[in-house]
Formats: sequence, C-alpha cells, structure tokens
Amino acid sequence: MSYEETTIPQSDSPAGRCEYCGHPFPTTGRLVLHKGLEHPQQLDDDEEEAFRSARADEEDELRTLRLKALGALVLLYFGFLMLYAIFA
Ligand SMILES: [Zn+2]
Repeated sequence: MSYEETTIPQSDSPAGRCEYCGHPFPTTGRLVLHKGLEHPQQLDDDEEEAFRSARADEEDELRTLRLKALGALVLLYFGFLMLYAIFA
C-alpha cells in the first residue's frame, strides 16, 4: 500500500507521535495518556510522572464539568422559579 495509513489529515500535523507504535496524537497530553495506557512497561520515571499528572488533570476536568452541569441545572431551575414568581 502506498497511501499513508493515518486518521489525521496531513494539514494539521500531530503534536506528538508515539515512539513505540508510531500512532500520531493531536496533543502531547493525549500522547502521554496513550503511552501510560498502552505501553506502561516502557515508561521511564519522567513519563510515568507525566502520565499520572495528565490523568489527574483529566479527572479534575471531568469533576469541573460535572459541577458546571449541576450549576447550570440549578440556575435553570431558579430561573424558571423567578419567571413563575414574576409572571404568574
Ligand atoms: Zn503507542
């Protein structure tokens, strides 16, 4: 096969490529996570540390997202309550 087998278009060049399996990643964060999940045996101490903090960051992001969703729901609820109080 002469065509390059890549899911990422040529124009946006990946930020990193896995040195173990050659898979390209759009951000170094995704690359770090991939290496930690797919090649845990090959990680050196620095990469393992980077993986741990990247994973912790992702968990933080998820938690923040959930809080934001909850906040939006509460705001929506009180918004309708106010509308009801004003117009009803
Ligand atoms: Zn890999």
